[in-house]
Amino acid sequence: MARYKDAVCRLCRREGLKLYLKGERCYTDKCAVTKRAYAPGQHGNNKRKLSNYGMQLREKQKAKRFYGVLETQFRKYFEMADKQPGITGDNLLRLLETRLDNVVYRLGFATSRPEARQLVVHGHFTVNGGKVDIPSYLVSVGDVIAVKDKSKASPKFKELVEAAKATTPQWVSADAEKLEGKIVSLPTREDIDLPIAENLIVELYSR
Ligand code: SF4
Repeated sequence: MARYKDAVCRLCRREGLKLYLKGERCYTDKCAVTKRAYAPGQHGNNKRKLSNYGMQLREKQKAKRFYGVLETQFRKYFEMADKQPGITGDNLLRLLETRLDNVVYRLGFATSRPEARQLVVHGHFTVNGGKVDIPSYLVSVGDVIAVKDKSKASPKFKELVEAAKATTPQWVSADAEKLEGKIVSLPTREDIDLPIAENLIVELYSR
């Protein structure tokens, strides 16, 4: 299970926006994008106009980094999205949104997608009663994602879900008492609040 292991704040600075990869720190003045609003590296401060290709590439990198997906897997998602009926860009984002680690984050069980990924890998969650520790597991409508019985003793989960209530998207429902959530519907493009121009990603892969 490959993953990015370098300093994650560099990724935000490279994309020029907050990717919210570090939980609470992202909302403080310590955020690297707030402190140094330019790309990392020696020439990070040099502004240059991007070509069409450059813009498409950046959009793909941004999406990959929001969801913590590496290139090979991202391309597989694109191929899956392309084969599905409907708009390829919407399909792509829907697939990424329905990854188990993202759902755990959306339900409020973690403060960031990287943290959600780690919690899933460590086996803290079940899907429909069975343990699932694969972050890329794709959930379906009606699935119930719950904190594993052994992990329920930790007050952390309940506090997080309570705190996240206001921002829980409508396509999932979270129950802070039972420490579980349900997939109410598949997310539409309007449900996904990330600043991603998915059409540029489709253009890039269609070259
Ligand atoms: Fe990105 Fe969060 Fe680091 Fe800010 S603190 S640069 S939002 S990961």
